[in-house]
Amino acid sequence: MLFPPPSPIPESSVFHPQAGLSLCCRLAAGVLTLTLALFSQWQPGRAAEPGQPPARPDRARFDPRPLVARARAAGLQVFQGTHLVLLTDCLPQAAGLAELPNVFDQAFLVWCHHYGLKPDDYADWQACGCLIVDRERFRRAGLLPERLPDFANGYCDHHRFWLVEQSNPAYRRHLFLHEGVHAFTATLLNLNTPTWYTEGIAEWLATHRFVEGQSQFQHTPIPVAPDDVEQLGRIEMMRRLRQSAEAPSLEQVFALKPTLHGTISSYASAWAAVALLAEHPRYQQVFAATERQPLDSSFTRRLTSQPGWNATTASRDFDAFTADLDYGFECERMAIDWSVGRQLPATGATATVTATRGWQNSDWQLEAGRRYRLQASGRCRVGQLQRADGLLDLESTAAGISLDWYRGRPPQFQILAEGTAATFTAAIDGPLFLKINNRPANLTMSDGQLAVDIVSVDD
Ligand SMILES: [Zn+2]
Repeated sequence: MLFPPPSPIPESSVFHPQAGLSLCCRLAAGVLTLTLALFSQWQPGRAAEPGQPPARPDRARFDPRPLVARARAAGLQVFQGTHLVLLTDCLPQAAGLAELPNVFDQAFLVWCHHYGLKPDDYADWQACGCLIVDRERFRRAGLLPERLPDFANGYCDHHRFWLVEQSNPAYRRHLFLHEGVHAFTATLLNLNTPTWYTEGIAEWLATHRFVEGQSQFQHTPIPVAPDDVEQLGRIEMMRRLRQSAEAPSLEQVFALKPTLHGTISSYASAWAAVALLAEHPRYQQVFAATERQPLDSSFTRRLTSQPGWNATTASRDFDAFTADLDYGFECERMAIDWSVGRQLPATGATATVTATRGWQNSDWQLEAGRRYRLQASGRCRVGQLQRADGLLDLESTAAGISLDWYRGRPPQFQILAEGTAATFTAAIDGPLFLKINNRPANLTMSDGQLAVDIVSVDD
C-alpha cells in the first residue's frame, strides 16, 4: 500500500513514503524447493524438424461451418468475428459474451506481431471456441468429442478449444485468450515446446487490460495495476511462493511436466519465466531469436545454448525477478548488474544510488568479516501523487521515515544495513548492492540520486 501523506501537505515539505536506503551484500545462495506438479492441456501439432525454419502454417482448411450448424440446431448461441467462432450455452444476458470475438481479433494482431507474422497472410485463419456451462449439452450436440480428456478449465486441440464458463468475465476473457493462444501457436506455428514455454507464452500473450466501453484489448504482459487483471492473481501467487520459500528456480520451471490439471502456481511460474525472458534486456534478443526457430521440443536446449547465455546469471536473474516482482515491474529498470566490482580503496569510496532503478551494484567489493561504515546523503523524488491542483512530488532523503518496509526485505539478499548511516560487518566477499526502497511502479515517477560514502572502519 502506498501510504498517502497526511493532509494538508505544503508543497515544499519533504515526504518519505517507505523510503530508506537498503544495503545488502551479494546474493546469497538459497535452496528453493518446490515440486511442481502440473499442467497443460495441450495436444501437439506436427513438430518441425530441428534446424529448419518454422513450418509454413497448416493450410489444411479448417471450416467451422458444420460446427456452427450443430450449435444452432442445439439452440446454442453463436458469436462470430473475423478469426473466431464462439459457441456457448451461456445465458444470452451473460455479461461480456458478445465482445469476445472482437477481443480475439484484436489479440490475434498482437500474437502475429509477437511471432513476426503478417496478419494479412492469415486473414482467413479461424478458430472455434466452445464456452461451456453444461458439458452434456455440448456432448449431445456433437461439439464435445468423447476423445477429449476430462479437462478442468480449458482444452485446446488445433483449431478448436473449449473452456468452462467462469463467474468473473475478466477471468473468463483471460482463459478464453489463453486457449486461443494455444490454437494460434498449434496451427500457425506447429508449436510442440516444453510445458513451461507452451503455458508461459499462452499466459504472457493472454494477459491484458480491457478498456470497457471501447471493447479494447491492451496487451499488458506484466500488469500495471491489479484492477486491470481481476482474479488473475499471477503476481500474488509468485509473492506467496516467495513468502513460503517455494518459488521455483528457473531450472525447475524449465523442467515442468505436462499434466491435465495445471495448478495456479505452475501457470504463474511459467508466465514469470516467459516474462523475464521476453522483457529483460539480457534475454530479450536471444529469446526472440529462439522463438523464430522451430517451436519444438528442443526449445529450451536451443535457448540455453545461444551465444551469451549464462545459466548462473539467468538463474540469479530469475530469482531476483520473482523476489521483486510486482505490478508495474519494468525489467529494464529492475535489471541487476552482477559484476564483481573493484577493491575498495583504503580511503573509502562513494557510490551513487539512482531513484529510478531497483538494486544497484555499487561497483565496490567488500570483504567478509570486515566492518564498514556507510553514510548516505542527498534527496530524491520517490514518487508523485495526483492532486486536484496538479502533481505533488514525493521527496525523500536517505533516512526516509520508513513507515514500513515496502514488502519487507528481499529474502535472497542479505540486508546488512538501512537508513542514512550504518556500520555493519560484510557477510561474504562480494560487491555491495544498494537501492532506495520503493515500489517498482513508482520508479517511473522517481528522479534524482543519493550519494553513499563507503569506508572500512577496521583499520
Ligand atoms: Zn494452457
